[in-house]
Amino acid sequence: MHFIDLHAQRARIESEVDTAIQKVLQHGMFVMGPEVRAFEAQLAEFSNTKIALGCANGTEALALPLMAWGLKPGDAVFCPSFTFCATAEIVPWLGAEPVFVDVKRETYNMDADHLVACIEAVIAEGRLTPKVIIAVDLFGQSADYPKMREIADKYGMKLIADSAQGYGTTLNGKHPGEWADVVTTSFFPAKPLGCYGDGGAVLTNDEQLAELMDSVRVHGKVTASDLKGVEFEHDPKYFNMRIGMNSRLDTIQAAILIEKLNIFADEIELRNKVADRYAEGLKGRVLAVPQVMDGVVSTWAQYVIEHENRDGLQAHLRANDIPTAVYYPVPMHVNGAYEKYEAGAGNLTVTDTIRDTVLALPMHPYLSEDDQDKVIQAIRSFNG
Ligand SMILES: *Cc1c(COP(=O)(O)O)cnc(C)c1O
Repeated sequence: MHFIDLHAQRARIESEVDTAIQKVLQHGMFVMGPEVRAFEAQLAEFSNTKIALGCANGTEALALPLMAWGLKPGDAVFCPSFTFCATAEIVPWLGAEPVFVDVKRETYNMDADHLVACIEAVIAEGRLTPKVIIAVDLFGQSADYPKMREIADKYGMKLIADSAQGYGTTLNGKHPGEWADVVTTSFFPAKPLGCYGDGGAVLTNDEQLAELMDSVRVHGKVTASDLKGVEFEHDPKYFNMRIGMNSRLDTIQAAILIEKLNIFADEIELRNKVADRYAEGLKGRVLAVPQVMDGVVSTWAQYVIEHENRDGLQAHLRANDIPTAVYYPVPMHVNGAYEKYEAGAGNLTVTDTIRDTVLALPMHPYLSEDDQDKVIQAIRSFNG
């Protein structure tokens, strides 16, 4: 049994993907080739956003808007402690500081009340200026964006949706881009929408921001707006108007992603069937099965249960050849390089509790009912 089975998906679209890769090998436009533009358009349409830009990975996707907005030392960026490190990692790149916020016990997503308390604490202290909120769609579930937007507006802050695990999630039929200034995602192979290597994207309805992020991803190249009313003596291609980087999505990866996006809506449905079956088999048998907010469709990047004896259960499942994983055993506010940053407004009580109880079970669209029953039976038979 696989924790995530990429071979099953490959078997489903093998000939389409192989043909798409061959096409790129033949035309040879490996960087910013036609498939990149085609995929960007398809991605924007899928999540009902004006503009999508491919980039090198989900980490740099988070850096693009921060660089476009000119984040700098003295600025504070609020994000959950209970997340993958990349959510906070890009903040110190720019000399700014992450402030770690607690999550809600029910959804594992950022707690709006605690976020407000953290922002107020930073304002009261007066050392940092609140600038950006990064909400995370943890394990595939949309954060509470209407509330996040309200808080961002109240304090004049920007809002990023880190949808690396949740691209495709909706709240009342709407994607995170409906509320966030920018949505970022990752195409790391194990994410719900993954490629065959590294890749990422940013999505936004803000054309000015898109133009700046497009510039930042290609070494700060001149934009159409930069050129307005300006006479350049040389080819403007070689003018670099701002400090940027090189963060592009490879053409081959874009070609693969086009084929994967074609079956993505169906895969989200399959993942939800698997999740429903898990809930049926495990409800009342463990400390908690995942709770999805009213109106949310999750992409189920992970199916995470809680158990009082998590390590015992994990060992029991391992003995039964069932692979599991713990996300996240070391939350950011107690994690090596990040301990020195502020864990806002008192204790991160929920984060400090769930790090010891969470366990991710095998989850992918092609998990067979037989395998799933094995997992359910093994958990039910554990009396530790
Ligand atoms: C995977 C992930 C990222 C980073 O994506 P990469 O493509 O691996 O750089 C960022 N945030 C979250 C929440 C993630 O799960």
